[in-house]
Amino acid sequence: MTHSAAPLHDRHRAVMPQWLALYYAEPLELTHGEGRHVWDAHGRRYLDFFGGVLTTMTAHALPEVTKAVAEQAGRILHTSTLYLDRHMVELAERIAALSGIPDARVFFTTSGTEANDAALLLATTHRRSNQILALRNSYHGRSFSTVAITGNSAWSPTSLSPLQTLYVHGGVRSRGPYAHLSDAGFIDACVADLKDVLGQAHGTVAAFVAEPVQGVGGFTAPPDGLYAAFREVLAERGILWISDEVQTGWGRTGDHFWGWQAHGASGPPDLLTFAKGIGNGMAIGGVVARAEVMNCLGANSISTFGGSPVTMAAGLANLTYLLEHDLQGNARRVGGLLIERLRALTAGLPVVREVRGRGLMIGIELAGPDGTPSAEAASLALEHTRELGLLVGRGGREGNALRIAPPLTLTVAEAEEGATALGEALRRTQQDLDGKAGS
Ligand code: PMP
Repeated sequence: MTHSAAPLHDRHRAVMPQWLALYYAEPLELTHGEGRHVWDAHGRRYLDFFGGVLTTMTAHALPEVTKAVAEQAGRILHTSTLYLDRHMVELAERIAALSGIPDARVFFTTSGTEANDAALLLATTHRRSNQILALRNSYHGRSFSTVAITGNSAWSPTSLSPLQTLYVHGGVRSRGPYAHLSDAGFIDACVADLKDVLGQAHGTVAAFVAEPVQGVGGFTAPPDGLYAAFREVLAERGILWISDEVQTGWGRTGDHFWGWQAHGASGPPDLLTFAKGIGNGMAIGGVVARAEVMNCLGANSISTFGGSPVTMAAGLANLTYLLEHDLQGNARRVGGLLIERLRALTAGLPVVREVRGRGLMIGIELAGPDGTPSAEAASLALEHTRELGLLVGRGGREGNALRIAPPLTLTVAEAEEGATALGEALRRTQQDLDGKAGS
C-alpha cells in the first residue's frame, strides 16, 4: 500500500464528509499527550484546557489507565455481552452505587449518543409514548433519535424527527424573555412554560431530558433547583426525568459528583446517561435506570461492543484513580481559582460578556462591538489561544462561547498559566475587533 505525500489536511478533505469540521484555520494534528499537555506533529506543546473535548477526563496517558488497557488487550480484546466479564460487572456495580438511583441497573454503550438513544428507547417503551420534553439549546447527539431532542437546528443535520419533541425554556438564561428575572422568578417562569407546553401535548408524555449544564450550548446552566421544580410537575404525570450527564458527570462541576445534584431536592433522576471521560479516552457510554424501567425491553442485547473488556478495564482504572485522588475536590478548588483569575484578567474587555461556570466547566461568552453574540470573536480567540500554546473549545448557540474543561488533575500552576494565556488571547481578540471597527 502506498501513502500519499499530500498534506494530511488535504487527504482528510478528500475522504471525510464536508460536515466533519476541524478546529483552526490550519488544523492541528496531535500526536501524543502527557498529563494536561498534548504535542502536535511539529513537536509543539499545548496546555489542554479542553481535555480532548472532555474525553480525557483525568490526564493524558494516565499510567494507571494505560497499564489496565495494555494488560486487558493482551488477554482478551473483546468477547460480547453474551459472556460474563468481571470488569463490566464491577464497573456497573460502582456506577450503580454512585448514581443515587435506587435499585439501579447499568447498560454500557460506546458513546453518549448511543447512551441517549438507549435512554429514549427505554423511556418511550416504558411509557408507550414517543412524546419527549427537551430544553431549547440542548445537545444530546446526532443520531436519528438524538437529533430529534437536540434543541438547536444548527446542530441537527435533519429536520425529520422520529419523536414528537416539545421544547421548553430552561437552558439559556442570559437572553430571551426571562433574561431579566431573578433565579426564583426564572424558575417560576420556566415551570409556567412547562405546564403550558404540557397542556399542548397529546396524551402521555414519555420523558423530560436535559443536561444539568448545557455543554455544546456553551456551558450555560439554569439556576440550581430548576429541575427539582420541574420534577414536581413531571412526577404528577408519571413523566420520566433523563439527566444527560455526558459532560457534567464524575465530579467535573466540583460541587457535585453528578450535575443533577444541583437540583437535589427532587432526588435522583429516573434515568442517567454518561459517556466521554469515564474511559479517559476509551469509548464508553451508558445508561443507568431503575430496574423497573431498564427491564421493560424485550431485547437480549442492544449493543455488540458496549462494555467491551478493554474499555471496562480502562473505566475501572480511571474511576478508581478519580475517586482515590478526590478529583471532584480538585475540580472545585482549582476550578474556583481559575474562574476568579479569568474574571479578573478579562474585566474591562468589552468582547467578554460573561465568564460563567462551576468546577472545571467554565464558559466565556463573547460579543462583538454591538454587544451581540459574536462567532467571529470566538474564531479569533481560538486562533490566538493556539498561538499561545493553549487549547480551548468553542460552543454556544451562535458559536460565540469558549469552553474550558481541562483534565480534572489540573494543577494550580497550570490553571494560572492557562488563565494568563487566555487573558492575553482575549486581549488580542479585542484588538482585532477594535482594529476592524476603526478601519
Ligand atoms: N450528550 C451531551 C451532553 C454531549 O455533550 C454529547 C457530545 N458532545 C453527547 C451527548 C453525544 O456524545 P457522543 O459524541 O459520545 O456520541
